[in-house]
Amino acid sequence: MDKGAGVPVAEAKTSKSIFSQLLERIVQGRGVKLGSGPEGEVSLEILLENCPDSLLSLSTAGVICDANPAFLSSFGYSRGELVGSSVLALIPEGYRPGFAEALARLDAEGPESRAPDDVLAFRGAKRDGTSVTMDCLLAPVEENGNRRVLAVIRDLSLDQELLDQLKESKDHYVALSETITEAIFRIDEDFRILFANSGVKNTFGYDKEELVGRNMIRLFPEEVFRKHEPEFRKYFYIDDQDRVGMGLKRTIELLGVTKFRGVAPMEISFGNSKEFRGRTLTCIVREISQRKTMERRLRHLAYHDKLTGLGNRDLFNEDMKAILAEPGWGAGRKAALLFMDLDGFKHINDTLGHAAGDELLVETARRIRFCLRDCDFAYRFGGDEFVTLLSLVSEAKDAALVADRILRSIREPYEIQSSSGEKLRVEVGVSIGAAVLPDHGKTAEAATKSADIAMYCSKEGGKNRYTLYDEAINTKSTRDWRLQQEMRQALVNGEFVLHYQPIVNRDGLILGLEALVRWQRDGVTVLPPSEFIPRAEENGIIVPLGAWALRRSLMDLRRLDAAGFHRMYISVNVSSRQLELPDFVDTLSDAVEGSGVDSSRVNLELTETTLLRNPDDAGAKILEVKRRYPSMMLAIDDFGTGYSSLSYLSRLPVDSLKIDISFVRALHREQNRKVVNAILNLAESLDINVVAEGIETAEQRAYFRDKRCKGMQGFLFMKGQPIDELEKRLRAMRDAASGPA
Ligand code: C2E
Ligand code: MG
Ligand code: MG
Repeated sequence: MDKGAGVPVAEAKTSKSIFSQLLERIVQGRGVKLGSGPEGEVSLEILLENCPDSLLSLSTAGVICDANPAFLSSFGYSRGELVGSSVLALIPEGYRPGFAEALARLDAEGPESRAPDDVLAFRGAKRDGTSVTMDCLLAPVEENGNRRVLAVIRDLSLDQELLDQLKESKDHYVALSETITEAIFRIDEDFRILFANSGVKNTFGYDKEELVGRNMIRLFPEEVFRKHEPEFRKYFYIDDQDRVGMGLKRTIELLGVTKFRGVAPMEISFGNSKEFRGRTLTCIVREISQRKTMERRLRHLAYHDKLTGLGNRDLFNEDMKAILAEPGWGAGRKAALLFMDLDGFKHINDTLGHAAGDELLVETARRIRFCLRDCDFAYRFGGDEFVTLLSLVSEAKDAALVADRILRSIREPYEIQSSSGEKLRVEVGVSIGAAVLPDHGKTAEAATKSADIAMYCSKEGGKNRYTLYDEAINTKSTRDWRLQQEMRQALVNGEFVLHYQPIVNRDGLILGLEALVRWQRDGVTVLPPSEFIPRAEENGIIVPLGAWALRRSLMDLRRLDAAGFHRMYISVNVSSRQLELPDFVDTLSDAVEGSGVDSSRVNLELTETTLLRNPDDAGAKILEVKRRYPSMMLAIDDFGTGYSSLSYLSRLPVDSLKIDISFVRALHREQNRKVVNAILNLAESLDINVVAEGIETAEQRAYFRDKRCKGMQGFLFMKGQPIDELEKRLRAMRDAASGPA
């Protein structure tokens, strides 16, 4: 482009800003003098030529004298078509009088007239016939003594489009809000309702017209609303994304009042507030009766025992928390806990069937509840364990009275239907332990522990009785109870480990390994098995402990297999408590199948006493094991100590007898040797293997070797070793055997 032909950029900018200023003056209604005089004013011609807005220069009579390029391009006319014609021709008829009047006024007022205050809005026509909405500002100007009227014209079509869009989105909003069944409100800071949708009818029973302009408070019980009011106000100022961080909830639940004075639970959620002609907030209110009922039902399910309808352990914990949070504990308030365990329930359950057991539990729950006041609570913790929380007692004697009432009530015979349908009178007892809060424990945990210890004392002390924690302190039962807790924890903490002791043949070759459990804390023995195993059998911990030992030892056997020692079997001790469980065989199956160990490499060690405690059941279980796993082995442990009739040896598929250590120790006694020989002969005639336990000396070994005893176990060969150590020793033995002679 030729540089001289155009306006230099910098200059163009300057001119533009001059025009802007000029127009501003015009818009503000100040008359403008134009010209190209010595003051450097801008001429009308330059203004027209360069101004980005559409301008017409008119005579005071309304004849178009000039039009600027912006006007020509937006209206589609050529200059020649316009100049000399009346501006009114561009204006639809209806608007002409108003326009003519404004021009006439300017003409009458003369050159000093001010621009009319009003912007004239009207519709004009483009050359192609389309009509446009525009506004027009008329300003008197004077140029070189000539009076002109400058018409500054703005096409409003775009604004109209925006308005249309706005209206459309408003319509959408209304349509949307009308399809929602929840109530939607827009409220101002005084809680006055500015907008309500039809959903308010659904939720509150009002037509929206009844609510718009009224205060929202009327939709809630006043005291409820007032309680939430300060929180409500915060929603006007804190936007959604910041609410949780500022301690506000996403929704508020409160009671609402409907038109017909009904009260219903409601939930309110809030939008962000808008600042437009005052601060407003949109909120959605939904009625949540149904959800609340469902929540209550779920809560009930989660917190109650299905069988008896009493609260469960979770509810007990919640209630304890709530009661301890109540005031008055410093001022002599007391409460009491009664822990109860039925005596003889297991027997009834086993002999009369589960349905009868359930019936008895339901009746027990009813009797316990009957012994309580309204402010006391009853729970079932599972099995035949019940707990009551006496929320208000004045002294320990009150708890004793309730305990006594429960004791007597449960001692009354029960009438129960057996599985065969006959009505039976059965009797049970209950062992109760009581603890008073805060005397025997200030926290839920401490009080629970005290009540549990007291109950344990009742059980140990002969059952069917009641013990207050005070009396239980420092008794043997308390120590036993503590040991039980400690063992339970030890199981969780992994303080039990297995040691493996080889069982060897006459040539010293390892046939199998006996898994022996050890209790160690940080590498130090807590108690030897001879002390904790009998306790674990009494308190039942042997059940999970034994199951663990079985799983663990099978896994370790796999490990030894992988290291190339795959000829050995694993011998696991099984306690009578494990064997008695109805699911014993399934637990065994799970462990064996889960490990992938061939069942022919598993040897179960059962003592004679275990077999004789409940011979029919034990026999049936063993036969079931053998039915599922014909090649799994069975050993009778500590053989010779059980005063048994030995008749079971002919009935049960026994694979080996383990001669008890006491016989081995006393081999020097003639009488003893006779017993050992008799055992060996008996076993031989029944085709059963014998393993001699506790071989410590070469003489003992020689004795049994001479007697053709197949298996030996004892410190002479190896003490029980942890798996790592055992593997190391096995490797060393293998290396020694295969190394250079
Ligand atoms: P047990 O099944 O008769 O195990 C043999 C016991 O004799 C083991 O005692 C073992 O260390 C010990 N022993 C072996 N050779 C000798 C020896 O030459 N001299 C001496 N003085 N003792 C020897 P431990 O490990 O103390 O176990 C004692 C009992 O605890 C076991 O007797 C068994 O009845 C029980 N037990 C151990 N682990 C378990 C288990 O996992 N489950 C069950 N239910 N009982 C287990
Ligand atoms: Mg054993
Ligand atoms: Mg033994």
